[in-house]
Amino acid sequence: MISYKDLGLVNTKKMFAEAMKGGYAIPAFNFNNMEQLQAIIQAAVETKSPVILQVLSGAREYVNQTLLRYITKGAVEYAKELGCPNPQIVLHLDHGDTFELCKHCIDTGFSSVMIDGSHHSYDENVALTKKVVEYAHQFDVTVEGELGVLAGVEDEVSAEHHTYTKPEEVVDFVTKTGCDSLAISIGTSHGANKFKPEQCTRNAEGILVPPPLRFDVLEGCEKELPGFPIVLHGASSVPQEEIETINTYGGALKDAIGIPEDMLRKAAKSAVCKINIDSDSRLAMTAAIRKTFAISPAEFDPRKYLGPARENAKKLYVHKIVNVLDSADKL
Ligand SMILES: [Zn+2]
Repeated sequence: MISYKDLGLVNTKKMFAEAMKGGYAIPAFNFNNMEQLQAIIQAAVETKSPVILQVLSGAREYVNQTLLRYITKGAVEYAKELGCPNPQIVLHLDHGDTFELCKHCIDTGFSSVMIDGSHHSYDENVALTKKVVEYAHQFDVTVEGELGVLAGVEDEVSAEHHTYTKPEEVVDFVTKTGCDSLAISIGTSHGANKFKPEQCTRNAEGILVPPPLRFDVLEGCEKELPGFPIVLHGASSVPQEEIETINTYGGALKDAIGIPEDMLRKAAKSAVCKINIDSDSRLAMTAAIRKTFAISPAEFDPRKYLGPARENAKKLYVHKIVNVLDSADKL
């Protein structure tokens, strides 16, 4: 058993309580490699923001679980070295799908896990989530559950249609499972193509405008569960300037579209305490790499293309923290 406390990490409890009180949201950035991790830590330190480092099970396999533990420990030390004496960093499993996977993560240094039983029946979701909570809480690890299904594709997580969360179920779910936070479905979506063109309208420039989020569902959940931390998945905004750079330099991302940032800003002020961002970072990295290769085709030093990618990702993280989630200066 390796405790996250020995790695210098924290769970989400205090973080979410403060975010709820302060009307902001904690950034939960997915990462797959060292450059993204460096950029996240640099951005969090520079803005004095708490941060959730999050991995899908595919990312955990890609990095290797042992290496992941040590680079996360290294990330905490790196934050201190950059001038943050008490960094607030969580290592979170995104979309855990079995008790065994969650247990394994808890046993190897994660401070928070998500058990996503949203594809099961309601009763099976309750039973699975409860089992993970009972195990996790013995070790002071926090658990995120999910009610409702998000549309879209994110690694191995995919669904064809939204199933919006039913506000009348949330109290029963949270009471029965004991989970610490709840991911809900209000119309956000996984991936860089969050909506089909036929679900959108087009503005004067021909750019797709997505359908609005279901704030009525969010408000319904808030009313049922006052003060309880809500999580938004699939909350990348898919910056059109990154899409343009990617497509200008040989990419082929057609009709990529995300959640407008003003909607995320509105959500961050509510009971939403954690906002997940993955695709935006992938796009920022890819745009910078494509541009470097197009402009300098003879370049073959990984630092020369991963360096600009890291810089672009960091810019994006700082922007999200300062201008969207409002989690800067909270340490
Ligand atoms: Zn998700």
